Order: sequence, then structure tokens, then C-alpha cells
Amino acid sequence: MGVGNKRTLTKTRRKTRDLDQIKADLQSSKHLAQYRETKASEGLPGLGKWYCTECAKWFETEVSLVVHKKGKPHKRRVKQLREEPYTQKDAEAAVGLATDNEGHHRRTEAADAEMEMTT
Ligand SMILES: [Zn+2]
Repeated sequence: MGVGNKRTLTKTRRKTRDLDQIKADLQSSKHLAQYRETKASEGLPGLGKWYCTECAKWFETEVSLVVHKKGKPHKRRVKQLREEPYTQKDAEAAVGLATDNEGHHRRTEAADAEMEMTT
């Protein structure tokens, strides 16, 4: 058991791409193609045919790729990629949206308080 654990901790070859690299892959097919060119398709599962861009992972068969795309680890990754603000503009838009919601809640609360006063 201890040996297996140590192996996982020191395993770096299977490290996947960084999130910012994957984002670039999703935005530009050229960027992704460049990365895929650095890998020899002979050495990849399924000869590099079945690839999940979001997880930077190859699969043996189309079925395992389809199953993977329905699975939790993949959905978690997609969410992760979506949540992290990609540009400053996105971040500002998200902040603006939050402020709007707050103002709406405050207005509703004020209206409720007024009604209580009149009754
Ligand atoms: Zn995936």
C-alpha cells in the first residue's frame, strides 16, 4: 500500500496540461494542433484519435471518450474552465452582474419594510 502511494506522489509523467493552456486550446484549434503535433500518435491510446480537449486526455476508443464526457471528472473540469474569468472584461461583467442582483434584493427589502409600516 505504501509503495503504491509513493508512486502516485512521485508520478509526474501523467501530469495534464495547465488550465490556461487548455483554455488556449479551446479558443484556438491551431494552438491545440501544435500541442498534438508534439505527441507521436503511435504512442497514444487509440492512436491519438479520441481526445478530450478540456481534460487534455486521450482515450482508447470512441466509447470510452463518450463515457468520459458524461462523467463527473469531465464535467468538473468543464465547470472549472468556465468559472475562471478568462479576460478582465469577463471579470468586470461578473462583478457588474453581482452588484445588480444586490441592488434588486435591497429594493425588495425596502418595499417590504414600507408595507409593514402602512399596516
Ligand atoms: Zn474530459
